[in-house]
Amino acid sequence: MNRRDIIKGLSLLSLPISVKGETLFFESSPASPLSAKRDLFKELGVRTFINARGTITAMSGSLMHDYVVETIKDSSRDFCMLDELQDKVGEKIAALTHAESAMVTSGAFSALMLGMAGILTGMDPEKVKQIPQLAGTEIKSEVIIQKSHQIDYNHAFINCGVKLVYVETPDDVDKAVNEKTASMHFLGSGSLSGKIKEEEWVALANKHRLPASIDMAANVPPVSNIWKFNDIGFSYVALSGGKAIRGPQSAGILMGKKEIVAAARLNASPHSGTIGRGMKVNKEEILAMYVALEHFINFDQDKLWKEWQAGIDRVGEAAKKINGVRAETFVPPIADHVPTLKISWDTDKIKISGEQMLDALRKGEPSIEAYGGGRDFMTLTTWMMRPDQINITARRIKEELAKAAV
Ligand SMILES: *Cc1c(COP(=O)(O)O)cnc(C)c1O
Repeated sequence: MNRRDIIKGLSLLSLPISVKGETLFFESSPASPLSAKRDLFKELGVRTFINARGTITAMSGSLMHDYVVETIKDSSRDFCMLDELQDKVGEKIAALTHAESAMVTSGAFSALMLGMAGILTGMDPEKVKQIPQLAGTEIKSEVIIQKSHQIDYNHAFINCGVKLVYVETPDDVDKAVNEKTASMHFLGSGSLSGKIKEEEWVALANKHRLPASIDMAANVPPVSNIWKFNDIGFSYVALSGGKAIRGPQSAGILMGKKEIVAAARLNASPHSGTIGRGMKVNKEEILAMYVALEHFINFDQDKLWKEWQAGIDRVGEAAKKINGVRAETFVPPIADHVPTLKISWDTDKIKISGEQMLDALRKGEPSIEAYGGGRDFMTLTTWMMRPDQINITARRIKEELAKAAV
């Protein structure tokens, strides 16, 4: 063992070791164990809860699988060049997603923004410096979006300095296109509400020789959506890492045409004079995102679906034990496309509103966050629960309904 090996071993094990009679403790080693296990949520007085709601950013998204957390832990012990890692991981993700190229971003929002920036700048370093100050430059400055696809996340484009131009019909698109048009954007979860569907949107973009982008952040499951929009021919696709895929909530994927991803990377961290510098992802998120995606694609999707269904069935059966309670399953058609439970009740027999139920569950022990509280119903999912939390949720809901029964 040479000295380097000893030190490497030290940082991994954080054991005291004797070198030439002197005992060394690497107290400051990033790998030294915490002296006692801390429960920081408790220490800080931060409420934790059972998530019966789904993958909501403000509720901290999803729980990472153990292999994702392991990846973060293991990769935290070594240095690497971020660009090299993005190159290698990007190739792997691109292969998994049928894209020409890909990169890990700090989320779907960041993917939307960096893809847009890449379209505006290409590989021109002067343009990269310029964004978002487009006035007086030759940089294009408009994005066409369907009216029904207005959503706060489109602020990602405004951040780049571009103007959002809203349309409804193919005819509107033809009229809206002009020399300032940079791209045409589609909201995946707006597919049912818009007059123009994905394939036609891409065809229109092709007709006008414009890139087409899509925000399909929350459109998984089904797993096939991970590659579907690359197959359809979108120029770039934005996907969340911290929703169904259960990677880090601070990660996402930008995938699409080689030249767009390459230009997006010029506009991103680790490059400093860029619009994307504040959306940093480090090696841990890059690798964890890759591993999470790879595992998710390899899951037995039927089994996963059956687990989710069994989870809400268990809660529904418990609730139905109370006289006057109904429980039915529905599946939102796009986005959060998972078995979802609607529990409703006869308000003559059960004197509580949906809102009051949600409040009672939130204030109960343990706290539970469900949603959709109407006059006589509430809604929940179990797909973001740890297995042991499903029975607890079933019991708590039954308890609260029983309490309100007259
Ligand atoms: C969640 C979501 C986003 C943002 O995704 P992040 O990964 O949190 O950045 C963007 N668009 C839609 C439609 C979403 O549902």
